[in-house]
Amino acid sequence: MKIVLATSNPNKVHEINEMIAGRGIEFILPPEGFDPVENGETFEENSLIKAKAAWEISKTWTLADDSGLCIDALGGKPGIHSARYAETPQKRIDRVLRELVGVEDRTAHFECCMTLINPQGNVEKVVKGICEGSIAYEQRGEHGFGYDPVFLLKDSDKTMAELTDDEKNKISHRSKALRGILEYLSINAR
Ligand code: IMP
Repeated sequence: MKIVLATSNPNKVHEINEMIAGRGIEFILPPEGFDPVENGETFEENSLIKAKAAWEISKTWTLADDSGLCIDALGGKPGIHSARYAETPQKRIDRVLRELVGVEDRTAHFECCMTLINPQGNVEKVVKGICEGSIAYEQRGEHGFGYDPVFLLKDSDKTMAELTDDEKNKISHRSKALRGILEYLSINAR
């Protein structure tokens, strides 16, 4: 089964491909430059915008992921603005750490919403995945991407960036959402 993966983020492609290895699904990427305007107000709305934009081009199964980091003490920010919170990944981490100086409640979660659209252009399934944790006082670890070096996992002393790819893929928000999609497909779309 072929599914267009509505993203141009190579880190997401890498993680998702690792997770579907051996499942008989092939993800195809949209044409280079695919960059729909994400002007929704929630992860759900943005994931639908991306999935629909990819369907318009491909008219086949499409899957989109919209995700981000939500920090309780910042009222859920950076949230849907996670990718654009500052110019570079390091500047985004620096901004979060700066905004939390002197803040004790550092609870946070990663959220991922995946939307699957069928070849007729209808929404077939929406699944949300959450990974709970908190924001560390300083960054640690070399793996993963984005905010992983400052995301401390709940009930662990490790940051997400200290996990191997396999370890992250067992517990991440993205893997939880993808598992829901794969389960749905194995039951309904073969
Ligand atoms: P999107 O491409 O609009 O969904 O933006 C997602 C952004 O949220 C990424 O660019 C990262 O900044 C952040 N993000 C999402 N998932 C992760 C993750 O697994 N680790 C670290 N940062 C993430």
